[in-house]
Parts: sequence; C-alpha cells; structure tokens
Amino acid sequence: MAGGLRLRELGGTGLKISSLGFGGSPLGNIFGSVKEEDAIASVHEAARLGINFFDVSPYYGDTLAETVLGKALKSIPIPREDYVLSTKCGRYGSGFDFSAELVTKSVDESLQRLNVTYVDLIHCHDIEFGSLDQIVTETVPALQKLKDAGKVRHIGISGLPLNAFRYVLDRVPKGSVEVVLSYCHYSLNDTSLLEIVPYLQEKGIGIISASPLSMGLLSGQTPPEWHPAPLELKVACNKAIEVCKAQGKSIAKLALQYAMRNHDIATTLVGMNSIEQVQENVKAAIEVEQGAKYDEELLKEVEKVLQPVKNLTWSSGRDEN
Ligand code: NAD
Repeated sequence: MAGGLRLRELGGTGLKISSLGFGGSPLGNIFGSVKEEDAIASVHEAARLGINFFDVSPYYGDTLAETVLGKALKSIPIPREDYVLSTKCGRYGSGFDFSAELVTKSVDESLQRLNVTYVDLIHCHDIEFGSLDQIVTETVPALQKLKDAGKVRHIGISGLPLNAFRYVLDRVPKGSVEVVLSYCHYSLNDTSLLEIVPYLQEKGIGIISASPLSMGLLSGQTPPEWHPAPLELKVACNKAIEVCKAQGKSIAKLALQYAMRNHDIATTLVGMNSIEQVQENVKAAIEVEQGAKYDEELLKEVEKVLQPVKNLTWSSGRDEN
C-alpha cells in the first residue's frame, strides 16, 4: 500500500504501479484550458496521495503536457525511482511518424522536457495510424536500442482497435513489447477490452486501461468538441448522466469505480486537471480497494440506459488496420 492506494504488478515488467494512474493529457489543455499552477498542483497532490504512475505524450498540447509535467516532476517530493513515468512516440501535433530516426529523436526530446534521464515506459502512440509492419520491423527495434542505452525501461503500444495489438504482439520478438495501453474499451459503456484479456495474459503483457470516463462522455461535464464518438453514444451517455444527477450522484465516481473493479487491469488511467479531481478520484479508488459496497441500484439503472450502445465505438486509424 502507498497512501492507501494499492500497487499492482504491470505484467512481467517488474514495475509496481498504483491502481489509479494520472493521465497527463489534460495538462496539454486537451479538455479545456488549465492554469499551469493548477496542473502542477494536481501532479503534486496525486503523488502525495499515493499515485505513482504518470502518463503523458509529446502529442498532448503539442508538447505542452510534457513540459508542464516536467516542471511538476522537477519539484515532486518523491525520488525518481519511486514513480513510474510513461510517455509515447510516433504521434505528434504535426502528425504521425513511427520511423526509427524520428522516434529516437523524439525520446531524447521527451527526456529533456520531462527533466529525467529515463522513462519507465515508452508507448508507440496510436499504432493504428501507422503501418503496423513498420511498428514491428522498425519502431520496436529502434526503441529496443534506446532500452539498451538506458533511456527507456519497457516498451508498450497504445491505440483504439484491439486487433492492432494482436497484429503487433503476434509478430514482435517475445519480451520486446511488454505493455498495452488501451483506451475507451473498459468503462460503463464499453467493456470490449475483456475480449483480449486472456490473450494478453497468456503473453504476459501488462494491461493499462485508459479513459474510464470515456474521454469525458461520463465526466458529467460537456465532452470536448473533438470527441469522436457517434451521436447515438453521446446521447446515451447524456441520459446516463441525467439518471445520476436526478439522484444527486456523480457519474464520474460510478464510472471510475466500475472500471477499477477489474483486477486483470493493472492500472486505470484517468485524466485529471485539478486538486479536487485528484482527491475525489483517489477517494473513490480507495473505496473500491477496501471493498466498499457499491451503488448497485444506480449501476443497474445506468447500465440499462447504456445497453443499446454497449461496445459501440468509432473507427480510428488506417482502413487496413
Ligand atoms: P478520461 O476518461 O480519463 O476523462 C478525462 C476527463 O474527465 C477530463 O476532462 C477530466 O478533467 C475529467 N475528470 C476526471 N476526474 C473527474 C471527476 N472526478 N469528476 C468530473 N470530471 C473528472 O479520459 P482521458 O484523459 O482521455 O484518459 C486518461 C489518460 O489516459 C489520458 O490523460 C492519457 O494519459 C491516457 N490516454 C492515452 C491514449 C492513447 O495512448 N492513445 C488515449 C486516451 C487516453
């Protein structure tokens, strides 16, 4: 236990990460403008409350999120070896490039922005937008060299379509890719991640599930304009929000607790941009870990509203992926 939050093993990496992770995309103003001091205070509060896992990408806010997280980490009150830092490569404000040359340069730039000498995890960011064969034959080998050089500790892949994970994992050398970061596939409205859990476990792959609030559809606030969900899904999530509001309950809490109950998932990454959100989410997470009774009646009502759109997703990436 660390500050009440449990640490879980991330597959075979040897990393022990908090069951609730800090998602850094809001630090890049992805969900609306966040003052730098609030962003930094959120990171510090997360660390104070036992979150030891921080995820970011050069893509978020076109490097802004990494820069802000770097400033926060410079003054974070815990030693470097006591937190797990994850960033990504291949997706940038300017587009996608999974070439060996660019990802190598990108990792060096991320390390500078983050004020660290290594990251624990480097993810190929949204692999479905690249050539999956290039990820296998060029990107992962380039990252392997960075691993040998001590700049990254473990390699992961992230993206939306679950089949893309299988494609890559079936083709890379065993042990090279150790982690997947899936998003929007384990929440109140979508549990399709479960379809590949046995496959990932058989391969010893650590599972990170991101966006338990479905990238804002279940936060209780208006989702960002760029949200790619089909209208039908947005409408159903709004109805679910109304069901909770009518009872004076928080859909964000229900959604987070729902996602965190599955122990096959090492950590659930939530985007947070204020001390209040960090405190609320850590409290909700600790309740789950302590086996607190869950609002089953509310869950049933919300699940009923979301049933017609269960596992409804959107297309992402190249057609062939
Ligand atoms: P999310 O589902 O975690 O939702 C984030 C939104 O919910 C933000 O607007 C946040 O302010 C709000 N929120 C958080 N706690 C709240 C609370 N208690 N009450 C009300 N609102 C609350 O979506 P996300 O941020 O996209 O996902 C989490 C993290 O996972 C990201 O920040 C990122 O680090 C990672 N991620 C990675 C990928 C990828 O690699 N392709 C994709 C999506 C997410």
